[in-house]
Amino acid sequence: MVKSDQINNRNYEEYRQYSEMVSTIFELNPDAISLTRASDGKIIDCNPEYLNQIGYSREEVIGHTSLELELFNFKERQLFVNEIRKKQSISDYEIKVKRKDNSFIIILYSAKFINVDGIQTILSIGKDITERKQIEEQKQKILENEQQLTEELQSSNEELQSTTEELLSQTNELQFVNNELLKSSKLLSAIYELNPDAIVLTTVSDSKIIDCNQEYLNQIGYTRDETIGHTSEELNLINKVTREAYIDETRGNNKVSNIEIQGRRKDGSFIDVAYSTRQITVNNIPMILNIGHDITESKKAEKQLKFDSLLLSQVTDAVFAFDNNFKITYWNKGAEKMFGYTQKEALGTNSVELLRPNYTNVEIENKLREVGKKKILTNILYVKHKNGNDITVDQNVSLIVNDLGLQTGYVVVDRDITEKIKIEHELKESEEKYRNIVELANEGIMIADTSGHINFVNAKMAEMLGYSSEELLGTNAKSLVSKENRNLGLQKIENRKKGIQESYNIKYIRKNGEELWCLISASPMYDYKGKHIGNMTMQTDITESKKATDALLESESRFHSVLDNSQDVIYRINVQTGNYEYVSPSTKNVLGYSPEELIALIAKNPLNTIHPDDRSKFQKGIKKLEQNDKVEMEYRHQTKNGGYCWISNKIGLIRDNTGKPLYRDGNMRDITKRKQIEKQIEAAMDELRRSNEELERFAYVSSHDLQEPLRMVKLYSQLLERRYKDNLDSDADDFIEYIVEGANRMKQLIDDLLEYSRVNSKAKEFVNVDIEKVLNNVLRNLSISITEYNVKISHDPLPTVFADQNQMIQVFQNLITNAIKFHGSNPPEINISVQKDKKEWKFVVKDNGIGIDLKHQQKIFEVFKRLHTRDQYPGTGIGLSITQKIIIHHGGQIWVESQPGKGSTFYFTIPHQK
Ligand code: ADP
Repeated sequence: MVKSDQINNRNYEEYRQYSEMVSTIFELNPDAISLTRASDGKIIDCNPEYLNQIGYSREEVIGHTSLELELFNFKERQLFVNEIRKKQSISDYEIKVKRKDNSFIIILYSAKFINVDGIQTILSIGKDITERKQIEEQKQKILENEQQLTEELQSSNEELQSTTEELLSQTNELQFVNNELLKSSKLLSAIYELNPDAIVLTTVSDSKIIDCNQEYLNQIGYTRDETIGHTSEELNLINKVTREAYIDETRGNNKVSNIEIQGRRKDGSFIDVAYSTRQITVNNIPMILNIGHDITESKKAEKQLKFDSLLLSQVTDAVFAFDNNFKITYWNKGAEKMFGYTQKEALGTNSVELLRPNYTNVEIENKLREVGKKKILTNILYVKHKNGNDITVDQNVSLIVNDLGLQTGYVVVDRDITEKIKIEHELKESEEKYRNIVELANEGIMIADTSGHINFVNAKMAEMLGYSSEELLGTNAKSLVSKENRNLGLQKIENRKKGIQESYNIKYIRKNGEELWCLISASPMYDYKGKHIGNMTMQTDITESKKATDALLESESRFHSVLDNSQDVIYRINVQTGNYEYVSPSTKNVLGYSPEELIALIAKNPLNTIHPDDRSKFQKGIKKLEQNDKVEMEYRHQTKNGGYCWISNKIGLIRDNTGKPLYRDGNMRDITKRKQIEKQIEAAMDELRRSNEELERFAYVSSHDLQEPLRMVKLYSQLLERRYKDNLDSDADDFIEYIVEGANRMKQLIDDLLEYSRVNSKAKEFVNVDIEKVLNNVLRNLSISITEYNVKISHDPLPTVFADQNQMIQVFQNLITNAIKFHGSNPPEINISVQKDKKEWKFVVKDNGIGIDLKHQQKIFEVFKRLHTRDQYPGTGIGLSITQKIIIHHGGQIWVESQPGKGSTFYFTIPHQK
């Protein structure tokens, strides 16, 4: 009994442990496990995952067939069952399963016939492969619910235990236990074998692997022999840290779920596994049962998903999704930014109402129908921003289809092209604008390819060349260039190839044969890859100015030859630098220095070459030049032989159009000879002046001193006449008479001479003198003779002149007296006229008298010069001499024009006041 009890107890314990393992594997297994009676197909047992997969409750399932539950269609099920019957064991059999809610899932089945209690039973393990993601989610749920399930399991375990206890008390318990043991053992090995997840049993004490299934070996890549008895660390499956963390998690915990571990396979590749563990006792040894589900793929998918969602959140495009009722189910950051609604605001709302309020759902549905046909629908349309603005978007819409081919919604990717459209529009406008500018430009514009063939000319360019645009297009620009410029043109095209931009002149020949000079500004053109594709030139017609420039050059060269051949020294000084820019070669003749020597000499100090006494005069001259822009000065310039020569320098200041002085242009003339002559003249003049003064003084003194003895002669001859007249003979009377008359004449002559010599010394300060009054004065003085000779006098209105009044009276009186005295047969007619010149008054006194022979016209102004005897006409011949002296004293001149018998005209001038 004891033995039997012992056996019973051992068997029972074994059974219990197996049972626990089975139930653990059952419960923990992420795949669906079901036991079906082969005879009638009724489901005997299943794990929660199974129920999960098909969507029925345990009650609805247990005792029913899969046909009753309409899990499979009949034919498929038949095939499946036949396959199992035939092979007794199948794996990776893919079949479509209809869930309670009529949705479909795809299950990968492994199944095997096993004998349970002598009943043929099919053990099936099904892996839902409908959607990896779905699996993941599903699993997550399972794991979340595990607590509850475990609790259920525990209670069911407890139930089982109590049941077992009950059974134990029964007599056939051993048999039963043995059977159960057998059953459990078979079940276990079947589960072991078929399970798509890795199952591994490790000791708690030293973590040695006691047992594992094939999937575990597949996962780690080692053979069974390499694995059993070793720790995962020894196999280098996981590193120490991960392993310790894992042990920490599992130790002390009865069960741990879903620990994700990355392990290294034998070949070094990595594998992600989600482990669920449970502490169990086998043969009284505490062990850990680990079930590992390969999540490498889903991890990858998860990473990909994370990456995708990160990508989606980061893209600037708006990405959103909505279901068939337009309810927004996804809304990325780009959408938030583009449309102004946050994810929170957008999710769950109607996308049509939100973004396209001007449309109805039906209208949009109609449009979206096209998506079905085309897979991706591309549109450009307006979408409303939260702030009411329209956004232009380039939209791609595609369908969301689940694995069963059913359409569940749409994904939209919108790219904001508002700005792009605006820019395109502006670009078009500006293109238009520039086209107009180019066409209307006053410059010629030509575009040619790299070999010179014209691709484009504007209207102005065609007009300049005299061809139509059509004639020019395709023509090689070379053929338009004048022969002498062709090489230049080719050289310029080469420069463009080197990327050089430049300006130059080219002579074309117009269609009508005329020359066309153009100033060309040329630059190379490149395509977007930077390849040189042609050249653009802007061309200005400079024919006219070219002609003018040529003429200028011609005249300039002429001018230069004049300068170079000049007798005078011509130079140009740059005012800014103070340097000579030009000195004519004549400097060698004039100063003895070559132009270079003179430039070098003056560079040291310009005043060096000027006579020390003339330097301040020179400096004053330069100051004056700055004010007047021109100056003329005379100074002594050093010559190479060490002496000086007199220079007359005419300097002009040349300014730019802002008034800034640019150049001093000078013309130095050697006036040494003139200066010498001037000096001689000056000396002669001085001498003349001196002798004149001496003469005047002599005339005055002699005439003055003669007066006294003359008076004596006159007095005693008159006395003689009075006392002895008629007392002497008649001859004596005559002689006395001659003496008296001679004395009178001498007195007259001396008076006249005295008068003449006093003209200068007696003169008064000049004042304004009214000649009208002067004339009246004269006519009054002469009234007796005017009446006597019946003189007719006419005159112009007479001016006021700046003069000595008495002397003016004297002038007019002398001239009028003569005009009366030298009258002809007719009564005298005298006309006085006057002309005003720039510098002076010119008076004209005209008579109708006897006239003067040309040969005497100069002489009559000499002292005591007369043309007639005293018998014919009285007078001393001094009148005109005095008149001339007065006029000269006033700064004027006197002359006569006359012909004998035709009257005389006397002219004299009186300068205006200075
Ligand atoms: P005078 O009148 O005393 O002879 P003048 O010096 O006035 O001396 O004149 C010099 C001479 O000029 C005159 O003698 C006369 O021959 C001539 N003469 C001057 N005025 C006239 C005149 N109006 N018509 C003709 N002869 C004139």
